[in-house]
Amino acid sequence: MDTKPQKKSLQVPPKRPHLTRLSSMTSTKDDVSDGGTDVVVVPHRYMLKRSQSFSSGFAASLGKARKEVGSMDIEDEAAVLPTSPESPGSPEMFGATPEESAPATPITPITPLDGLPSADTFAFAFDIDGVLVRGGQAIPEAIEAMKMLNGENKYGVKVPYIFLTNGGGKTEAERCLDLSRQLDISISPAQFICGHSPMRELTEAYGTVLVVGGEGEKCRQVAEGYGFKDVITPGDIIKHDSATTPFRKLTAEELRCSKSGRDLSKVKIEAIFVFADSRDWAGDCQIMLDLAMSKGGYLGTLSETFDEGPPIFFSHSDMVWSAAHANVRLGMGALRRMLETLFRDVTKGKELDTIAFGKPQIPTFEFATRLLRQWRKDEHEIDAPPETVYFIGDTPESDIRGTNEFNKHSENDWFSVLVKTGVWQEGTEPAYKPRATVDNVLEAVKFGLDREFGEKGAKVPTKNIIEPLCLADAGEVPAGAIPTATLR
Ligand SMILES: [Mg+2]
Repeated sequence: MDTKPQKKSLQVPPKRPHLTRLSSMTSTKDDVSDGGTDVVVVPHRYMLKRSQSFSSGFAASLGKARKEVGSMDIEDEAAVLPTSPESPGSPEMFGATPEESAPATPITPITPLDGLPSADTFAFAFDIDGVLVRGGQAIPEAIEAMKMLNGENKYGVKVPYIFLTNGGGKTEAERCLDLSRQLDISISPAQFICGHSPMRELTEAYGTVLVVGGEGEKCRQVAEGYGFKDVITPGDIIKHDSATTPFRKLTAEELRCSKSGRDLSKVKIEAIFVFADSRDWAGDCQIMLDLAMSKGGYLGTLSETFDEGPPIFFSHSDMVWSAAHANVRLGMGALRRMLETLFRDVTKGKELDTIAFGKPQIPTFEFATRLLRQWRKDEHEIDAPPETVYFIGDTPESDIRGTNEFNKHSENDWFSVLVKTGVWQEGTEPAYKPRATVDNVLEAVKFGLDREFGEKGAKVPTKNIIEPLCLADAGEVPAGAIPTATLR
């Protein structure tokens, strides 16, 4: 139920955290790889904080999710429901004490460095493909929508936001660089979750792993960056034994990059991770099937019971996605379905239980909740969960379904908004019903702002008179450099 927020006085922090803010618009991928100073906005510090803050909680969620999902049909409604009401939305979810997770105070303008207050009772979370970007290009209204969230709105407030995409295939930092350029804003990895982000929590659980999908060696690099110690790719396996895929020959570049030098038939592959969309469905399916049917993950063996293979993790389960083509394209969920069907057919009826992360899985939304809380604390100095999170998506089966299911159990209100610029086609009945449907992401942002400050009656924060401070020029901001705000 909506409650009418009360106006509170401005809370001005005595000093801002030590910040070095550089433009991600001019940074290169090499900058990211090298870890130099010219990296994206607030890159490493927040990532460290996040990993320290979230590791145990999210790992616990994943462990629970694995048990749940492993015994469920992913298409079943129950697959996205937690087994107990205290899981999502509980204080533990936020990594906070009950006092800390109490409902946020009404609109309390915080004073960031640019002089604009931040709305603290609500936030936004965005899907990317079909909402902000399509076919590698920004959706026209997306740039305006981001400006609006960053303060160019009639209420004069900044609104915290994060990104939650099922896509992947690059490091979070690289995806942020891409998105920063596409949307003409600076985006931090600390406000970004992609499909395979949760897999970083599983590096201690498995030794040698097969990583599938993505361009070239990119996903091997991502996996190693997460901390996986022994990463094998389908290219390594084909290079080791070219008979693995009779009609698939490695290119000269693939031969050069694929690793060799050990007998892979002696190596136990403990888990399979599909990090990004496969570029070779036939070859990747063959290799995953070989391992799923193997004795304990050893290539070249064949189980008699077909239940000894390694676990298979997919970074999401979207059947289709919105790309440059006029019609939707097959996604990772289609590969997953194909693999399970093939396994059933070749084993004459055995079921293959695979595990998917990403939306609409509940742990992904729990992870997003923790990330949003950390982002609001670090960037906006708001140390409490928002009352409302507007989730903007284009796919009813993942975005809307996940948001609605998570909202049934979360303490704060996750409000689903469907846009018409992606997977969902106007005139059709969405498989999962959003609480609002709008033309595009700009209309979605306007909707949220107007609902908060209009319908819900929130007071527009009083504008302070702090002069904007240009962080891009300021470099490191010395403690105490921030003037005290004067209210009027
Ligand atoms: Mg989408």
